[in-house]
Amino acid sequence: MEFEQLRSACLSCEKCGLCRTRTNVVFGMGNPKAEVLFIGEAPGQTEDETGLPFVGRSGKLLDQYLKAVHLDREKNIFITNIVKCRPPENRDPQPDEWDACMPYLREQFKLMRPKIVVCLGRIAAQRLIRPDISVMKEHGHWEVKNGVWFMATLHPAALLRSPGQKPAAFEDFVALREKIHEVCDHTYDN
Ligand code: SF4
Repeated sequence: MEFEQLRSACLSCEKCGLCRTRTNVVFGMGNPKAEVLFIGEAPGQTEDETGLPFVGRSGKLLDQYLKAVHLDREKNIFITNIVKCRPPENRDPQPDEWDACMPYLREQFKLMRPKIVVCLGRIAAQRLIRPDISVMKEHGHWEVKNGVWFMATLHPAALLRSPGQKPAAFEDFVALREKIHEVCDHTYDN
């Protein structure tokens, strides 16, 4: 399956109950050939309204961090969530919803073959890196899984609630920039 076919299948998906309450599917945005993939948990209200990942106040903060290390969500990275439709009232996705939606992320992974994955927040990190990971203690650390470098960082919405953590999160992006220079081929050419 090609990337655009996957996007179009996802945008009309009715594989779980979240299709009944969503406004828009949030497939993700960015460069489908990106070597760096950012992954969050699930869309929130503004994401549901716009169909775009990480928008609103937390998205603006994320964009500031990206810009500081010369990354641009429209050019040299891709941003998505594990679950592509918003759970009502921002509740946690339920197990059947994770299971129904995970194949889309797997397919995005297969088509993009990223070299680096940045997990935004605890839930994405526990799902994609290790169930027992502590993002507070282990953010900015690298783990290699099947040749792909994974790092967790603090969720931008959490940084808005706890601004004292912003310098620590910025360090994660500096570490990301170094890792990109080390393992990526064209991220900073775009
Ligand atoms: S959350 Fe995922 S599986 Fe459920 S309807 Fe949306 S796209 Fe389909």
